[in-house]
Amino acid sequence: MSAAGGGTWLWARRAWLRGQWAEGVLLRVGADGRWAGLRSGVALPPPEATVLPGAVLPALVNAHSHAFQRAFVGLAERRDGPHDDFWSWRDRMYGVALRITPEQLHAVARHLYSELLAGGFSQVVEFHYLHHQPGGQPYADEATMARALAEAAREVGIGLTILPVLYERAGFAQPALRDDQRRFATDVDAVLRLRDAVRGWALPQVGAGVAVHSLRAARADSIHALARALQGDPGPIHVHVAEQTAEVDDCLAATGRRPLQWLADEGLLDARWQLVHATHTVPGEIAAVAASGAGVVICPGTEANLGDGLCDLPGWLASSTPLSLGTDSHVTRTASEELRWLEYGQRLLQRRRNVAADAAVPPAAQPSTAARLFERVLAGGTAAAGLGPAGLRVGARADLLVLDEADPALQGVPGSHLLDAWVFAAPQRPVLQTWVAGRHCGPAGIGAGPTASADAAGASASSAPSAFAAAMAALHGR
Ligand SMILES: [Zn+2]
Repeated sequence: MSAAGGGTWLWARRAWLRGQWAEGVLLRVGADGRWAGLRSGVALPPPEATVLPGAVLPALVNAHSHAFQRAFVGLAERRDGPHDDFWSWRDRMYGVALRITPEQLHAVARHLYSELLAGGFSQVVEFHYLHHQPGGQPYADEATMARALAEAAREVGIGLTILPVLYERAGFAQPALRDDQRRFATDVDAVLRLRDAVRGWALPQVGAGVAVHSLRAARADSIHALARALQGDPGPIHVHVAEQTAEVDDCLAATGRRPLQWLADEGLLDARWQLVHATHTVPGEIAAVAASGAGVVICPGTEANLGDGLCDLPGWLASSTPLSLGTDSHVTRTASEELRWLEYGQRLLQRRRNVAADAAVPPAAQPSTAARLFERVLAGGTAAAGLGPAGLRVGARADLLVLDEADPALQGVPGSHLLDAWVFAAPQRPVLQTWVAGRHCGPAGIGAGPTASADAAGASASSAPSAFAAAMAALHGR
């Protein structure tokens, strides 16, 4: 490969190729926004190449988001009753869900997506259940709220997978939704219409799959009907599952089976399915999921914040299950922080170090723990988002992040240990740039207005209130 020929040329002094650092890497972006050529050992950048200003990693997929919950971050960290748990948090979160307008959702999502780009994510998967007007009536255009998300993503440049959610009832033994869930109501036909509406927009880097809220919130016959309607459809299918022990207990009482076992026994799972949280499992369930090809989406920051519990990370890693990360309620919004807490939770639980290291590999031949987790969630994330191949390789979407090697946290770190230091020893976020489909999108890339750049850089807010600040003030009565 020479630097002659079409496309956009990029050059990095150091880049992460196929699980390790390579020196002097020349990359070519094709007209379709995918990698069209890569070569290492190119000591000097050709004149037509843009020089990337630091070490280059593939950017990651954020495989689980409820963007509107960004408007609630930091506002539920005080105990206001004797029992503060997931369920009491959810009641308070619904207060925001019942008020937020399409315009406010757009402002909140735009702010969030700029932060996610700054945190090293190039794609976000929206588990989208906030469809209707505050009173519960459909909007004239039933995809109004989804459109607000898509516009926000388009403006900042992040890739987006929208998953309209099947949401029918308040619990296993409750035939209908609670009144405060009225904005969420859908049936199988509505979910498919919303999916088709998103696909019909044909926006660049915006795709759609579907989701089932949870086994407690959708009837078994509806889940089967949805699965039948999706035969032959390549889009991802996500479901919240086994996040809370109460949900496992309720599922056992209602069906005689644990949630993951139920999904596997019903013959529903395949490689399109993504099991969000999958926190509370027994070994037989992990084996059943691994045999199905389905993936698991872990949300370490939110699972810690909500007191969900810790998943069986060693069990999932030892199985062939694809794994990915999500920031879910968005109390944390940085890829490296999610990776750090994925490992740290296990260290605290087991009182050991490098829990995610591969027990089958001799210690002297171990890849770094950060590298093992990064590679696993890189591949699992693109599957969860319905994208093609992952990483810096021909055919994958041309997404990357640039680490600032001059950041105080990374200064003096040997090049071979940059990924380890970024994950475990860089509490700030030394992501200089995130590129999506061959374009520099953030921080302060395309679409980044003054507010987005200031937010991304951690600078003080400008004197003019941002649309995000205005939305927050309106939502929280200030
Ligand atoms: Zn969720």
